[in-house]
Amino acid sequence: MYLKLFDLSDRVAVITGGGRGIGLEIGRALGQAGARLVLADIDSATRDKAAAQLTAEGLEAVALPVDVTDTASVASLADSVMDRFGRVDILVNNAGVSRLNAALDISDEEWRWVMEVNSNAVFWCARAFGRHMLDAGKGAIVNLGSMSGLIINRPQFAAHYMASKAATHHITKALAVEWATRGVRVNAIAPGYIGTEMTMQLKTMPEVYDKNIDMTPMGRFGEPSEIAAAALFLASDASSYCTGSILSADGGYTAW
Ligand code: NDP
Repeated sequence: MYLKLFDLSDRVAVITGGGRGIGLEIGRALGQAGARLVLADIDSATRDKAAAQLTAEGLEAVALPVDVTDTASVASLADSVMDRFGRVDILVNNAGVSRLNAALDISDEEWRWVMEVNSNAVFWCARAFGRHMLDAGKGAIVNLGSMSGLIINRPQFAAHYMASKAATHHITKALAVEWATRGVRVNAIAPGYIGTEMTMQLKTMPEVYDKNIDMTPMGRFGEPSEIAAAALFLASDASSYCTGSILSADGGYTAW
């Protein structure tokens, strides 16, 4: 009975930033559980390659364009999904960007861009897809927050990234409470350092990387699959009594 709770057969799952990294791996996990996947990404080459890869593995995946910072683009994605499938069951707000910069070196443009992709867009997408989920009386939204929304990373600086992820956690909780009695659950994952293109820069700075590892009790970066498993839990009926949760998956980083 319990394994059945993870079954996503026939459910439609939209994953923003699904072309690579954690988003692609979440697609693989949800697809293996039976979901029909929409990999939505700003980069056409990445999203097409990702959909082809998952299709070759026997999963059902289509690639669709989206710039999550553009509300018209998000609306058009939601329309395409509804036209094609007539339903949306799962939204994973995964698209994100990161820049390392000291506060005084962050330009207006860079601050706005990080906030726009990492937090405003979480709301734009949740609003566009949440509308259909509320109409259907069911749905699960999983947001990619970060341990950076719970603590301040050291020794690298990224005030915008940390602020944006804290906002994502609070958007998660606000929507969770607002929609709690209407069948739509909203949760977030707060990953620690995960080995993807986003964190490659850290590995090129030995003094930063060594400190990051030292501050992580498990003494290693995580794998995208270790976040995908958490996403599968939050997207499925296995987490039916979870809403407004911020699930840490960080090798123990925020435990001390
Ligand atoms: P990646 O940089 O590997 O992938 C992010 C994806 O999002 C890319 O395909 C990127 O496209 C896409 N994207 C960026 N901007 C937009 C946009 N405006 N519209 C649509 N898609 C966009 O990141 P990760 O896989 O590492 O991270 C995924 C999520 O997890 C992010 O929200 C991140 O903040 C979060 N996270 C990651 C951690 C880590 O250590 N890696 C730790 C904690 C949280 P393009 O190819 O054009 O850049």
